[in-house]
Parts: sequence; C-alpha cells; structure tokens
Amino acid sequence: MNLKDYIRSIEDFPKPGILFRDITPLMMNADAFAYVVDTFADHYGGSNISTVMAIEARGFLLAAPLAYRIRKPLVLARKEGKLPAESYRTEYSLEYGTNVVEVHRDSVRAGDNVLIVDDVLATGGTLAAAIQLVEQAGANVEGLALLMELTALEGREHLAGYEVFTLMQY
Ligand code: AMP
Repeated sequence: MNLKDYIRSIEDFPKPGILFRDITPLMMNADAFAYVVDTFADHYGGSNISTVMAIEARGFLLAAPLAYRIRKPLVLARKEGKLPAESYRTEYSLEYGTNVVEVHRDSVRAGDNVLIVDDVLATGGTLAAAIQLVEQAGANVEGLALLMELTALEGREHLAGYEVFTLMQY
C-alpha cells in the first residue's frame, strides 16, 4: 500500500510558507487507515509498552485504535486548560510564541513504559515536550510513533536516543 496516495498536500496552510500534510483522505479510506493501525500494532505488539500516549489532536486518531489493538491504557496529552484533574505541564517554543502540553498526573506513573503517538514529526518540538511530560512523571519513553516525518526539518535531531518509527517520509 502506498500511503502517500492518501495524503493531500496544501500549500500556504495554515499560514504562508507551510506545506500542510492533510491526513483526512487517509482517515476516509478504510483500508489505508486499517493498514496504518495494523502496521503500528505489528511493530509494537510484542514490546514492553505499558501505556499509549496520544498527542492532541490528530495523534488521538491514531493512538486510540492502536491502544485498543495492543490492549494498553490510552492517556491524553492535551493543550493547555483542557484537562480537569491535576496535571503535569510543559511549555515549548513554536516559530512564533509558545505552546503548552499537559497530562493528568494519575495517568503516567514512575516505571511506566510509554509509547507517544502523533501524526506528523516536523521540528520535533511537540514530541520533545511530550517526552518531558513522561519523564517528569518518572516514566520511560519506550518509543515515538508517527504517521509521517518531514525530514528537511530534522526533527529526529531533537529526539536523539529515542526510538522513532514513521510510516512515511517527505
Ligand atoms: P513539530 O512540533 O514542529 O514537530 O510539529 C508537529 C505538530 O504540528 C504535529 O502535531 C502536527 O500535527 C503539526 N504539523 C507540523 N507541521 C505540519 C505539516 N506540515 N502538516 C501537517 N501538520 C503539521
């Protein structure tokens, strides 16, 4: 299956200079979506992952069916102010300004082996922040699973020492 057939690329969205990789056509093709979830499940099925962490928002779409397939708890890393209970918090820089990601304190525990899931690895800033959340909790980052990687942005360089698994490279 050529997954790139199901990715729509849109220039200058959401702002000038960004080539946006739209995964909605992939989500709308049942076989392509199943192939993605099955490939992740095959890759992580035999590992010692204890927890699947989904990054808001498109990471939720991939992490939820994967957690179901490998029968592991699903936890949500959300944008600021969305979570109701006591949370860990990490602030990180964007091209302009900053962003905050949070996770409930009772959803990640010391000793957990966490797989972090998102749709796109661009600069790696979002994943680096999610890694900090996990490590603040005393848990271990077991792997990083992404649908695609934008190699020109060299996100992997921010993530040295972590296992990064991506299904497409642009
Ligand atoms: P970064 O923190 O730079 O690695 O950016 C990753 C986050 O931004 C992911 O959650 C993506 O959903 C989103 N993102 C960044 N660049 C793109 C892009 N070109 N197309 C689609 N989503 C993107």
